[in-house]
Amino acid sequence: MATLLISDLHLSRERPALSRLMLAFLHHGLTNTRQLYILGDLFEVWIGDDAIPDEYQQVIAALHDCRRRGIELYFMAGNRDFLCGGGFAAASGCTLLEEPQVLRLAGQDTLLMHGDTLCSDDQDYQQFRRRVRDPYFIRDFLAKPLAERQTIARHYRQQSQLRSSQKSYQDMDVNQQTVASALQQHRCLRLIHGHTHRPGRHTLTLSDGQTAERIVLGDWSDKQGSVLRCDDTGCSLETFTLGDLAR
Ligand code: MN
Repeated sequence: MATLLISDLHLSRERPALSRLMLAFLHHGLTNTRQLYILGDLFEVWIGDDAIPDEYQQVIAALHDCRRRGIELYFMAGNRDFLCGGGFAAASGCTLLEEPQVLRLAGQDTLLMHGDTLCSDDQDYQQFRRRVRDPYFIRDFLAKPLAERQTIARHYRQQSQLRSSQKSYQDMDVNQQTVASALQQHRCLRLIHGHTHRPGRHTLTLSDGQTAERIVLGDWSDKQGSVLRCDDTGCSLETFTLGDLAR
């Protein structure tokens, strides 16, 4: 039985083909799967559990269906969907995970993160993150009327796109020292994260001389999904299309 990990789908109303790919993945792609971990940015935007848009409902129902079939579902929030709360958990059958999380995977303690906190060279973003993840800010935001929340979310998204376009490729990737510190703090030799949309496997040497691995999950496009499949023999990063799932 396998443990699958995915992230960075960025589901939205504008991308119905992407939702179809996720629905097919949930219906046909989870054979021999014990657990599915979603490591953030499943949704492009989430402004509160009381305002779940229609375009997300089918995927949420399909997740719940997987739970009924006996697959354990875990959700760690990303920077887009960090307001997913108990309402989302109940509707989807997902267990919400705090970040970071240590999981015993393929014989090794593995650190799971969304990944945005690892991009510590982007100080402007980290400052923004601290502001919007503040519990008082969140409480205020969730108390606002729906229309106002939508306006604020749109504003933040535009700001973020504008700023990202002005930043270097390097600044928007993880900082190696931050990665090493996180691994050492949690006594892990494997890290799995998403967020950067730069799928791959990297080895690094920690300050105590031990070798660690960093696996970056892939983002999804309308045509191609990405999944990390782990079992007793190890982990493999795979991509698939709608056609692969139908087979
Ligand atoms: Mn992200």
